[in-house]
Amino acid sequence: MEKEIVIIGAGVAGINAATKLVDNGYPGRLITIIDKGNDPYNRLPEEVMTGMLGAGGWSDGKLTYHTAIGGVLSKYCGEEKAMELMDQVINNFRRFHPKPEEIFCSDPQAEPEFIKPYFGLRLFPVWHIGSNYLHEIAKAWYQYLLDKGVKFEWNTEVDDIDFNNSRIYTHNTTLQYNSLIFAVGKSGIDFAQSLSNEYKLPTEPKSVQIGVRFEAPQKYFQKLIDISYDFKLYQKYDNVSLRSFCTNNNAAYVAVEETYGDITYNGHAKKGKEFENQMTNFGILMEIKGIDNPFEWSRDVVNKLQIDGKGLYYSPNQTRKPGLTSEGTTVSAHQVDDYSLDDIRNAMGGYFSYVETFIEQMNEVFQFGDDYGIYIPEVKYLSPEPLVNYNDLSLTNYNNVHFSGDALSARGITVSGAQGIYIAESILKKN
Ligand SMILES: Cc1cc2nc3c(=O)[nH]c(=O)nc-3n(C[C@H](O)[C@H](O)[C@H](O)COP(=O)(O)OP(=O)(O)OC[C@H]3O[C@@H](n4cnc5c(N)ncnc54)[C@H](O)[C@@H]3O)c2cc1C
Repeated sequence: MEKEIVIIGAGVAGINAATKLVDNGYPGRLITIIDKGNDPYNRLPEEVMTGMLGAGGWSDGKLTYHTAIGGVLSKYCGEEKAMELMDQVINNFRRFHPKPEEIFCSDPQAEPEFIKPYFGLRLFPVWHIGSNYLHEIAKAWYQYLLDKGVKFEWNTEVDDIDFNNSRIYTHNTTLQYNSLIFAVGKSGIDFAQSLSNEYKLPTEPKSVQIGVRFEAPQKYFQKLIDISYDFKLYQKYDNVSLRSFCTNNNAAYVAVEETYGDITYNGHAKKGKEFENQMTNFGILMEIKGIDNPFEWSRDVVNKLQIDGKGLYYSPNQTRKPGLTSEGTTVSAHQVDDYSLDDIRNAMGGYFSYVETFIEQMNEVFQFGDDYGIYIPEVKYLSPEPLVNYNDLSLTNYNNVHFSGDALSARGITVSGAQGIYIAESILKKN
């Protein structure tokens, strides 16, 4: 019998799944990929999250190669299989790259002595694809799938899914599937949540991820940046672990994020000499285990850390002010003084002291004195992770519906793509 596979989301997970299927002889005409964004020829630069290759298609193109980075993979399939799946994703990017010889790998080998005894440094290889090549990769990859007969529906948003009758609905069509790969990424987080509520999908317990965005002149951190550009310092206590996260250098800007009506902070790096500001910024994120209702707890903390519709900025050196955005305006934040630190400590339920210790100990190593500032808070609201069968990532209640990528538990390109391939392998085995 011919089995129709529908993939919602032409992002990294969905496209890698389709590629694995057709590479292994699955007829492309039986695969339909639906995406609310544009094909790679019509996708505009400002369409950051949607369209061919999804958020990964317009990203920085850094492919991390470690099972502790980028979300959960080895939990489902074990360490060895996880690495093999990630190899397949990297090979796919290489295969459709116009200049594969320009892909390079940074691979720090040893923790530098100077960060000890306070910190560990996560060592992992990163393949740099080059963000300016991602568009060309997307086009070549798209053409390959079209040539194999895969059908694409662009600018088409899936509004609802009937898991009981295996049907999906868009504004003007209904499609029947035998297998569904649900790969909607972060831009589909609300849709995933609504399905989770509607079908009362059981979910995995999640931890809280909250902290601050740290900013200081780059010169203090240069000796570490020379070893690892996107360095990941970490510390571990009983139920709390801390890590530096998403480091930006050279032309590094703090960005305001508005989520659920509150202000939180993030950062990004620009390319181009004209943007250079010789600053470094990174998140200092705590992962706190064992909090009931982590999502509600985080939202409540974030809400308490707002003044006049802004997040907070603190520097022990009161002449240091919030920095400039890449557009040249001041990062929107309410500057607080030493007296307000107690309010912040209370709002974070006592956990802020871990962040303070992390900063004090960084100061021992990097000697930046009072020449820094923190934007409060930075938060990661982790997507609800539905409970899946570990052998094929299918929902425990609906075994022909497979969740993957950021809609499951991934937080990066390699893990998302690897989950897509893992699902495709299970479908191939069944057929
Ligand atoms: C600016 C930026 C930079 C990043 N840089 C990196 C990096 O350098 N390295 C790294 O590892 N990760 C990076 N990431 C994260 C990475 O891009 C994601 O983890 C990855 O793309 C997730 O893959 P996915 O397939 O799950 O989802 P996505 O790639 O986000 O794809 C989901 C697709 O689903 C579609 N969709 C959503 N809802 C619907 C719906 N209801 N109906 C139809 N279609 C729908 C969207 O249009 C989208 O194309 C970055 C993300 C951003 C935003």
